[in-house]
Amino acid sequence: MKKSALQFRFRSISRQSWRFTLGLLAAGLMTCTPSGVIAQTETDPQTLSYTQLLERVDGGQVEAIEYDPKTKTAKVTLINQSETPYTVEVLPEHPELLEKVRQQNVDYDVNPSTDNSAARSLLANLVIIFILFLVVFLLLRRSAASSGQALNFGKSRARFQMEAKTGILFEDVAGIDEAKEELQEVVSFLKETERFTSIGARIPKGVLLVGPPGTGKTLLAKAVAGEAEVPFFSISGSEFVEMFVGVGASRVRDLFRKAKENAPCLIFIDEIDAVGRQRGTGIGGGNDEREQTLNQLLTEMDGFEGNNGVIVIAATNRPDVLDSALLRPGRFDRQVTVDLPDRKGRHKILDVHARTKKLAEDISLSLLARRTPGLSGAELANLLNEAAILTARRRKEVIGQSEIDDALDRLTIGLKLKPLLDSKKKCLIAYHELGHALLATLLENTDPLSKVTIIPRSGGIGGFAQMIPDEENVDSGLYTRSWIIDNIIMTLGGRACEAEVFGDLEVTRGAEGDIQQVTNLARRMVTLYGMSDLGQLALETPNGEVFLGGDNMNRSEYSQKIAEKIDLQVRTIANNCYGEARRLIRENRALIDRLVDLLLEQETIEGDEFRKLVAEYTQLPKKQQEMVMAQ
Ligand code: ADP
Ligand code: MG
Ligand code: ZN
Repeated sequence: MKKSALQFRFRSISRQSWRFTLGLLAAGLMTCTPSGVIAQTETDPQTLSYTQLLERVDGGQVEAIEYDPKTKTAKVTLINQSETPYTVEVLPEHPELLEKVRQQNVDYDVNPSTDNSAARSLLANLVIIFILFLVVFLLLRRSAASSGQALNFGKSRARFQMEAKTGILFEDVAGIDEAKEELQEVVSFLKETERFTSIGARIPKGVLLVGPPGTGKTLLAKAVAGEAEVPFFSISGSEFVEMFVGVGASRVRDLFRKAKENAPCLIFIDEIDAVGRQRGTGIGGGNDEREQTLNQLLTEMDGFEGNNGVIVIAATNRPDVLDSALLRPGRFDRQVTVDLPDRKGRHKILDVHARTKKLAEDISLSLLARRTPGLSGAELANLLNEAAILTARRRKEVIGQSEIDDALDRLTIGLKLKPLLDSKKKCLIAYHELGHALLATLLENTDPLSKVTIIPRSGGIGGFAQMIPDEENVDSGLYTRSWIIDNIIMTLGGRACEAEVFGDLEVTRGAEGDIQQVTNLARRMVTLYGMSDLGQLALETPNGEVFLGGDNMNRSEYSQKIAEKIDLQVRTIANNCYGEARRLIRENRALIDRLVDLLLEQETIEGDEFRKLVAEYTQLPKKQQEMVMAQ
C-alpha cells in the first residue's frame, strides 16, 4: 500500500518536472522561475481559508500546524486525519493564530521549505547545456567520420565497380561500325593474348574513345569486355579527384592492383579529362591533387606490360584538353572516334532499341531516322522509351505514330501544355510564329517547314515553327554562307512580323531567344567562319570560353580596334537581315492575315498544308515548289 503511494508520488513529480522542462523550452530561457511557481501551485486541492483555520483551532480539531515562512503557507493536520494535510495561506504576521495555538496546545512548527525554484532553474540550465553539448558532439562525430573515411581509403572503400560479366555484346551497339571494328582488335588481344605475344607483338595498353556524350562510349567499352568475356572494372575520372590530396593516387593504385589480380580484364575510365587535363594549366594554377592522380595513372600504365592482359579504355569528349603525356605511345596510343550516328546508324540504333518494344505495324523506323538528324544513340533510346511511356499512359496496346511524334516533340521542344484562350497574347504569338514559318517557306536556302503551332510547351514556349533539318548539312556540318544568311533572316521573321503588324512599340521580349541565336550565328560568321569583310581570320576559339588546357593558349588576342570592327560587322549582318525580313513580311501582309486566322482556329498547321496555301498566293522557290508538286 505504502509502496504504491510512493511510486505514485514519484511519478507525479517526474511528470511535473517534465512538464516544467517542456514549458521552459517553449517559453525560452528567461521564464524559468515563473513556470516553476505555476507548476507548484497547481497541485494540492485540499485548502482552507485563514478564518476557517482559526475556527478549527478554536474548535480543537487541529492536531498540528507546520508553517513555512518562505511560501507563507501552513500545513494543517486535523485530528483523526490520515490524508495529506490542508494547505492554508497565512499572513506573514499572524499573532491571533499563535495565541489560539498556544491556548489549544496545538503542535506549531516553523519549517522553511528548501528552495525548490533555485534547484529547478539550475536543472533547466543543465538540460540546456547538455543539449548544446549533444549537438556539438554530433557535429564533431560527423566530420570525424568523413575525415576518417578519407584516411582509411585505399584500403577498403574502393570506388570502382567490377562486373564479372557485362552481358553486353557488339550486337547491342549499333550505328558506329568503324569504332566497333577498331575495338574488335582489342577483343582479340584480350581473348588470345598468346597468339600476339608468341610472335613478339606488343599489345597496346590503352585505347581512348573520343566522342560527344550519349554516343555509346560506355556501352562500347562494356561490349568489348562482354565479347572478350573478361571482367570489367570501371571508374569515372571525377571519382579519382577528391578533396584530400593523395586519395586519387591511392585509388589509381588500388584499381590497377585489383585489375592485375583479375587479368585478363578491362579497365574503363570514364570522363578521363577530369584527371587527365594538361598539367600546370587552368585558372588559378595547377591542381595538386589532380596532378598527383594523373602522375600515378601514368606510372601505373608504364608499370604493367600490356602482355599480361590488362587493357585500359578511357572515354572523353574533350580530347583537346588531355595531357600530351597520356597520348604518347605506350599509354593511350590508340584513339577511336565515336561520332554522332548518321541516318543509317540511327536506323540501326532504333532497330536495336525497338527489339524490346511493341511497335505498331505501320511505323517506319527508317523515316524516324530521317527525321532525327543530330540525335545521339542515348537520345534515340530515350525517344523510344518516352513513346512507350506515352503509350502506356494512353492505355494503348502498341506504340503508334502519334506517340512517337509526341515523344519527339517532347524531347526536342518540351512538354505540350493546354492551348491558350483567345487573347491578344495568343494573336501575337500566332503572328510571330507565322513570321518564321512564312520566311522559311519563301527563302531559297532555308530548311523546309515541318509545322507551325501555337500550342504552348513547357519551358515558357508559347508556340514554335519547326523545320525539317537537311540531313546532309547536319551530318557533314557543311552549312553554306547562303544557308546561314537565310536562317538569320528566318529567325528574325518572328520579331519582324510582330513589328509590321503591331508596330515598333508593341513588340515583345518573346523574340529574346531568336535574337540571341542570330547574334551567335552572325558573330561566328565574322570571328570563326571567315564569312565577313574582315576576311579569313579566326578571331576566337570555337567555344568562346577561356581555354582551360592545351599548350596553345589560343585565346583571342585581338586589339580593341579589331573588336570594334567585329562588332560593326556583326551589327551590319543582323541589321541587313532584319531589313530583309521586314520587307518580305510587308510584301506578304495580306497572306499573313489570312494564315493567322487559320492558325488561330487550327492551332497547328503542318508543313505540307502551309506550303500549299502559300503557293496559291505567291511563287515559291524551286526546292519548295517541288515539295508541293510531289504531294
Ligand atoms: P556515352 O558513354 O558515350 O555518353 P552511353 O554508352 O552511356 O554513352 O550511352 C547511353 C545509352 O544510350 C546506352 O546505354 C544505350 O542504351 C544508348 N546508346 C547510345 N549509343 C548507342 C548505340 N550506338 N547503339 C545502341 N544504343 C546506344
Ligand atoms: Mg558514358
Ligand atoms: Zn521566334
